[in-house]
Amino acid sequence: MKSRDEVRRERLIKNEQSFRDYNNRRVSFEQEADVEDDLVPFVCECGDSECIEGMELSVDDYMAAHSSGLRFTVKPGHYFPEAERVVAEHDRFWLVEKHEA
Ligand SMILES: [Zn+2]
Repeated sequence: MKSRDEVRRERLIKNEQSFRDYNNRRVSFEQEADVEDDLVPFVCECGDSECIEGMELSVDDYMAAHSSGLRFTVKPGHYFPEAERVVAEHDRFWLVEKHEA
C-alpha cells in the first residue's frame, strides 16, 4: 500500500516527464531549423498538472540544463520542495533536480 505522499510524488514526476518529452521534441525541431542562438518558447516542466505556462530559453540553455536525467526546467518559483531542490535560479527559468528515489 502506497502512502499518499508516494502517490503524489510519482504523479509529480510523471507529469514533469511528459512536459520534458514535449520540450525534447521541440529541441529537435529547433535544431533542424538552425536557430540555436534564439530564445525558444518551452513549456514549464513543474509538477503542477494545472500549469500550462511557458518560458523562453535558448536551445543551448535547455540542453545544458538537462545534462542530468533528474533535472527539469521550470518557471521561477514553480517547484515542489518535497520532490525536488532548486539547482540554479536564472532570470527566465529555474533549474530543479529531483530527489533520488
Ligand atoms: Zn509551472
